[in-house]
Amino acid sequence: MSIEVGERKVYVLRIGHRPERDKRVTTHVGLVARAFGADGVVIGDVIDEKVVSKIKGICEKWGRKSFYVISGVNSMKYARKWKDRGGIIVHLTMYGLHIDDVIDYIRRDPRDILVVVGASKVPRFFYDIADFNVAIGHQPHSEVAALAIFLDRLFEGRELHFIFSDAKICIEPSPKGKKVTMCDRKGEGQEYQ
Ligand code: SAM
Repeated sequence: MSIEVGERKVYVLRIGHRPERDKRVTTHVGLVARAFGADGVVIGDVIDEKVVSKIKGICEKWGRKSFYVISGVNSMKYARKWKDRGGIIVHLTMYGLHIDDVIDYIRRDPRDILVVVGASKVPRFFYDIADFNVAIGHQPHSEVAALAIFLDRLFEGRELHFIFSDAKICIEPSPKGKKVTMCDRKGEGQEYQ
């Protein structure tokens, strides 16, 4: 199976994070970004070191130390810069175009992708700057679910087989128990730092 890992960068921009109520969901946005093949997560506008260190802790243990995590970045400036540098922006919103109608165009486009997900009301700015406003169906649900499905469709399921070569611990698949081992799975599949 050939996967061009690292050819096109995919970052997730989480906007509207409210530290007092979104810690868990924003952490999950970061964990899904990492596990489903994105290269980093940027938490816009507010600093939340607890969320950043939780995500980094998972990378330390389960691999992908190079996964980029930062908070407190001005989200509008970041999005403008992303475009200036030649990347495209995909904003996930139930009001957008259905994923089935756009995912092939997005996948074929070799440019880096910034995937924007909201928390509360998303400013008009992101609908306008986005190259694609993409709906994961047209029902309200969750940024975590929307991101997971978007990345899964983008990578066509291959991300679920990535081996993170710098992982300290790995799961040994088991029909009933919980088997965790020290990793030694080099050469078993596509490696991903
Ligand atoms: N009420 C907010 C608004 O009007 O923008 C949306 C809040 S929703 C709980 C949080 C985020 O989940 C959204 O900003 C969007 O990124 C994502 N989301 C929820 N449902 C979605 C859907 N059907 N398709 C794509 N993204 C969705």
